[in-house]
Amino acid sequence: MMNRVEPALLHELTGMLQAGGIADAALEAKWICEDMPDAAAARETARRRAKHEPLQYLLGSWEFYGLRIAVGQGVLIPRADTETLVEAALDRLKQTASPRIADLCTGSGCIALALKSQRPDADVTGIEKSADAMKFAEKNRTALSLDIRLLSGDVLQAETAASFTELDCIVSNPPYLTAGDMAHLQQEVTFEPAAALDGGADGLHFYRGITRLWRDSLKPGGLLAFEIGFTQGAAAAEIMRQNGYEHVEVLRDLNGNDRVVLGYRR
Ligand code: GLN
Repeated sequence: MMNRVEPALLHELTGMLQAGGIADAALEAKWICEDMPDAAAARETARRRAKHEPLQYLLGSWEFYGLRIAVGQGVLIPRADTETLVEAALDRLKQTASPRIADLCTGSGCIALALKSQRPDADVTGIEKSADAMKFAEKNRTALSLDIRLLSGDVLQAETAASFTELDCIVSNPPYLTAGDMAHLQQEVTFEPAAALDGGADGLHFYRGITRLWRDSLKPGGLLAFEIGFTQGAAAAEIMRQNGYEHVEVLRDLNGNDRVVLGYRR
């Protein structure tokens, strides 16, 4: 929706958001005015946003890689940083016709859907453990009319990995926050599912599990590409080398932070 913005309402909502300590109060107030069907709904949304509920949940969708992705409580909100992972995979798969791709911990499906939107010839499967998140992935697949497969499953179970063979590429933005990070989450992030964030004591739990369990699901020369936290580049790269991947590289996001680690099955 794109309503005409009433100056008086905009002013009122901006004040509500400022009082709640929201940094970009005027801009967020404008988005809320544009998006909500009437003044009462806009006020109610601003009241909740002032308590730091994520704007993305309140609006019900967020843009990722040019796609409108439905989100809400129970699914991780797509981050712009994650576009770095999509870019890296697209770049490395340029020479591969009809690539077979698995997106582990697909959540809203944003990565799988972005890849399919750019590579209609690809065979893309998103795998997700959470039933709540899967509902959003299914909704997004339908709304965007992109033909990806979605599979309920735990990527850290050997049987899940064993059901995939001959993949050209595995991408994953797994939970990677450390126990320390989990104890000091930004207020907005506390509304997001802990299971999508918590990567164990050192944040590396999923990198260890996935590199080991999924290696044989890749073709020799197949690509494994992870999103990582900006301090995890060296550790994640080492895990990949120890598990038999070569040409391991760490890539930066648009802010200059380490954001992706990738390597190839020998
Ligand atoms: N980038 C997210 C955050 O900073 C973490 C996402 C993840 O753990 N995969 O909150």
